[in-house]
Amino acid sequence: MHNIPYSKQNINQDDINAVIEVLHSPYITQGPAIGQFEESIKEYSGAKYAAALSSGTAALHIALMALKVGKGDIVWTCPISFVASSNCALYVGATIDFVDCNLATGNINIKSLQEKLIKAEGEERLPKAIIIVHFSGRTCDMAEIFRLSEKYGFKVIEDAAHALGASYANGEKVGCNKYADITMFSFHPVKSITTGEGGVLTTNDKEIYEKIALLRTHGITRDEDKMQHKPHGPWYYEQIELGYHYRMTDIQAALGKSQMHRLDDFITKRRAIAESYSTALSGLPITLPEADKNSAWHLYVIHVEAKIRKRVFEYMRGTGIGVNVHYIPIHMQPYYQRLGFKTGQFPNSEKFYEGALSLPIFPTLQENEQEYVAQTLKAAIL
Ligand SMILES: *Cc1c(COP(=O)(O)O)cnc(C)c1O
Repeated sequence: MHNIPYSKQNINQDDINAVIEVLHSPYITQGPAIGQFEESIKEYSGAKYAAALSSGTAALHIALMALKVGKGDIVWTCPISFVASSNCALYVGATIDFVDCNLATGNINIKSLQEKLIKAEGEERLPKAIIIVHFSGRTCDMAEIFRLSEKYGFKVIEDAAHALGASYANGEKVGCNKYADITMFSFHPVKSITTGEGGVLTTNDKEIYEKIALLRTHGITRDEDKMQHKPHGPWYYEQIELGYHYRMTDIQAALGKSQMHRLDDFITKRRAIAESYSTALSGLPITLPEADKNSAWHLYVIHVEAKIRKRVFEYMRGTGIGVNVHYIPIHMQPYYQRLGFKTGQFPNSEKFYEGALSLPIFPTLQENEQEYVAQTLKAAIL
């Protein structure tokens, strides 16, 4: 009996030492490790600014606020994602709508997006922002999305929770914000690197960065230039906006910074695992994910016939293989159905969901474990 999760973190002694060092230091919340971690994210992604935050979800929330998206505005995303990708729009009082996915990748369908934009323009219901999810770590066609954003005047947030370490088709790193206003990464333990809980926003816009920095700490500033009144003394601070407590701790940032040294190695291993699955599983009556050397391979999602998915899932779980399903389309969630969304509204996403099965993939997944997963899957479907 094996016990193989679908994903898990990889913490080594260097990571542990980095955390212990902070625990012995005078600063465990807002110390030097946060800035150092942000530096490493900037250096890796090529973005000008990075702001570490308490989670990817918190990051999406204040990303929308920093872009001044609120009540009366419309936000679009794709139904094949974690609910956080759309909940953030509701947090700021905006209206959410979805664009169907590409059946082969689970990413936003560019043709559906183009058509929906034309229709929305006619109805004067264009979105103020679109949240682009790089599902499973495979990047969307950002050059085309950027072109559309210029044409229709919407802001772009990349939900790159799956895609730290991934590149676009032209080789540029996700997070550089060449095609987006803001990019979000998550550091939940199943993601490319971890800080326990945590997230970051990257941007190339100083004003957006400063807004994010303000919103993550209650809307409080100690910068005299931003104050309304003359400081009463050296202790003085002002709350100038309604912000949140969305800060990351120094303990977490130390872990994140140490993990960043290992990111490329993690991604190389994920890519090798995806390749060996694709070899081992070829010829079976299932649909494999397309090869992609730029993907971060956060997930390896196969599609089996819809009518056997539950049986295959239970069979594999019964042998200790932590298969999973990504995702139940967001518009099918009861909360979203109460907002008026209906099953049948985004047929590709529903079809993508029906047969989807995520196989275990993480850097320390051993070769014999990969073989065991492949053998068990064969036994389950044949
Ligand atoms: C994990 C995830 C998030 C949320 O990140 P947290 O750090 O868990 O808040 C958002 N979007 C997607 C696509 C994710 O996978």
